[in-house]
Amino acid sequence: MTANNPKTFHHKKKFGQNFLSDKNIIKKIVAQANLNENEAVWEIGPGLGILTEEILKFTNDLTVFEIDRELYPHLETKFADKIKLVKADVLRTDWSELLSQKTKIIANIPYQITSPLLFRISEHADFFSKIVLMMQKEVADRITASRGTKDYGALTLKMNYHFVPQKLFTVKPHLFYPPPKVESTVIEFIPRKDKPSIENIEAYWKLIEFCFRNRRKMLRRNLRTLFPDTSSEVFETLTSIDLSRRGETLSEEEFIILHNSLSSI
Ligand code: SAM
Repeated sequence: MTANNPKTFHHKKKFGQNFLSDKNIIKKIVAQANLNENEAVWEIGPGLGILTEEILKFTNDLTVFEIDRELYPHLETKFADKIKLVKADVLRTDWSELLSQKTKIIANIPYQITSPLLFRISEHADFFSKIVLMMQKEVADRITASRGTKDYGALTLKMNYHFVPQKLFTVKPHLFYPPPKVESTVIEFIPRKDKPSIENIEAYWKLIEFCFRNRRKMLRRNLRTLFPDTSSEVFETLTSIDLSRRGETLSEEEFIILHNSLSSI
């Protein structure tokens, strides 16, 4: 079947194909990116190109990543050489080969790849000057969660380390075709200017991952899982952080203190 009409196109659930059908929302999303002429933009998952069309009103340097080969003929006919179409899974593409300048991302992202996509974005964070994403409301809530709440976790700390995330507005399911089961949120990410420098950042993220692995457990217990050869007494002597606390009560600053104090283990 040719892909040109959202109602007749056979939507594939496995690719998270909930296409936007509301022109006003599309305009609002693209306006939020404040595109300057000829600025490099990435769109992840153009689908039938409804967002793509709006982005092209502002720039002619647009790269789109689409996994569904059924959509390629349609995108090629509709946009020809106005877009660079990367016919691939965005998560299996080598981003460092494609990123050579500051780039903005605008996307209604396929929900099933949200977490790996966000982690991939954070790995290349320095290249992105602004990101505007539509995602499940529940994930946007986790990204913007306050310390001490159930939503606060590794994703919150990671995205807030690289960016200043801000929820913009929610979008009801009936504004998509087919409608998704959950509400969506448009969220923007602006690069953070006061990013603290952290030695051995990989170990820092690993520490955070372990501190949230068992959310109900005290830090002491989760640290024992991360460092099985080290006794609780050693942790206590190394750090000023109270290890009877739970990970979800620690701020970024406190995680950095904890990380630095355990660096000799
Ligand atoms: N941008 C369109 C819109 O707003 O109507 C479509 C958005 S739809 C939620 C997600 C799109 O991402 C689909 O076109 C889907 O085929 C594509 N997609 C899903 N997984 C992908 C992946 N791993 N890499 C690239 N594109 C993907």
